[in-house]
This record gives sequence, structure tokens and C-alpha cells, in this order.
Amino acid sequence: MDSAGRYSQVTNTAGSSASSSNLTTPPRKKKKRLQKYRVEWEKEQAWLESVHNNSYEAHCTVCRRTFSVAHGGQWDVKQHASSNGHIRNMRDNRTRGTLDQFVLHQATPEADVVYKKNIFLMLCGNVMNMSI
Ligand SMILES: [Zn+2]
Repeated sequence: MDSAGRYSQVTNTAGSSASSSNLTTPPRKKKKRLQKYRVEWEKEQAWLESVHNNSYEAHCTVCRRTFSVAHGGQWDVKQHASSNGHIRNMRDNRTRGTLDQFVLHQATPEADVVYKKNIFLMLCGNVMNMSI
């Protein structure tokens, strides 16, 4: 009974806090508390880099862009990660990488075939020369 009551309390408070933050508007202006860049975010986002002279900004190595994290903190990072520009840049980087690999893998057997063909023609020519 006790544990059940506690459980419902927890779910109630979680539900009410989530809905109240969405529905109620603050009566007074809240003091703006600026968020600072945190190095631990880099564990989740490999492209993230700190900005040397500004701890309220983060740098994206994929977009080569600096964006502010002062208002949303990690939320700003996630917003940037889900932004169209960033997703496109990530995809471009990846396709560029795989294309290079593709071309390399394709080129090798083809070059091999051409090489063998040349040897074959050379041998044929030699045989024909010899037979003549
Ligand atoms: Zn980016």
C-alpha cells in the first residue's frame, strides 16, 4: 500500500510539472541564467567542440559553425544536432567518405582486369610474332 501510494505520487508530480511548465506562463520575468558549455556533452556528440574565449558557445566541427548554448544548454546542442543543416552536413561527410571507398574498391578489380587484358594481348602479340 505504501509503495503504491508513493509510486502514484511520483507519477503525479512528474505529470503535473511537465504540464504546468507548458501551460502556465511565469507571472514575473525570470532571471536569465545562462548555460555554460560542458565538456561531457562531447561524449554524446563527437562533433562538439568548446569555444576558447566563450564558454556560452559551442563549435560544430561538421558544420564548422559556432552556436550559442547560453539559453538551452544541452538542449541547444540537441537542437543543432537535429537541425537540417547539421544533418545534411553529417550525411555529406559520410557519403563523401563512402564514395571514396566505393571508388577505390571499384577501381582496383577494374584496373586489375585492364592490366591482365594488356598482358594477354602482349602475350598474344608475342605468340603471333613468334608464329609468323
Ligand atoms: Zn553541425
